[in-house]
Amino acid sequence: MVPTPAVGVYLSAGRFEAVVSGLARALTSLAGAGVGQSLRTPPVIARSIIERVGYHQAFPHLLGSVVDSDLVLLPAGCYCLYPMFEGARLTTPIEVSIEATCFRQEDSAETGRLRSFRMREFVRLGVGPQCRVWRDDRLTVAREWLGELGLETEAVVANDPFFGSGNRLIRALQREQVLKIELVATVGPGQRQAVASGNYHKEQFGAVFEISEPAGGVAHSACLAFGYERLALALMHRHGDDPWRWPDQVRDMLSLEVRA
Ligand code: 5GP
Ligand code: ZN
Repeated sequence: MVPTPAVGVYLSAGRFEAVVSGLARALTSLAGAGVGQSLRTPPVIARSIIERVGYHQAFPHLLGSVVDSDLVLLPAGCYCLYPMFEGARLTTPIEVSIEATCFRQEDSAETGRLRSFRMREFVRLGVGPQCRVWRDDRLTVAREWLGELGLETEAVVANDPFFGSGNRLIRALQREQVLKIELVATVGPGQRQAVASGNYHKEQFGAVFEISEPAGGVAHSACLAFGYERLALALMHRHGDDPWRWPDQVRDMLSLEVRA
């Protein structure tokens, strides 16, 4: 990654971008048979959506605004999905793959903590317990896949930022309910960060957008998000800076057989 005068904002050089493209292809294969639609987001989203989900209250310090407009910078891919189903009664569970360019006004400049970064998300809308099971299944598959790429990850229960509030008691309660699980890997010397996270939002977004599951109850949702830059950094830390010299299995998995 090529630094710019703005902290946490990088240009991608050829090799790095080749890895990101390889990850995008591999993640498409990993998505699972259930995925219907694939969406690519713009880097912005209507401010009204972010206000309805309460992000501006939970994370005013992370949110980027487009001055004099009705837009904010997109903080996570899955916020784009829920309004698409506003008022709908689902007849089957919905699974969607989303490619997103995200922004968060991070105040630290450590390796892998970017302000502008890319994410692939798989999102599911449906019946509550099935959403949780789906998240856990997809996390297991993702962790095996990361292991095959040579990345050892630790699954860590975190508190879920979707639920806002820095309140210590609420955070502890969230951890107890295991709403957010992060797969943490080494992305640089002595630097460990989440390369993927699985979230179970319960009825949070289904309630805001009045989405019902087939039996008529409020639809629940879950998402599994992968951070492209962190994954690429972790792979380069593990296998070296030159992707064309990585182990055959890893290059095969990322279809890196042609020299860019
Ligand atoms: P979450 O919405 O769970 O906070 O983030 C989803 C995924 O996006 C994380 O697992 C991580 O891989 C990636 N991500 C989150 N924040 C950052 C960040 O500040 N920089 C980078 N490079 N990736 C991030
Ligand atoms: Zn999400």
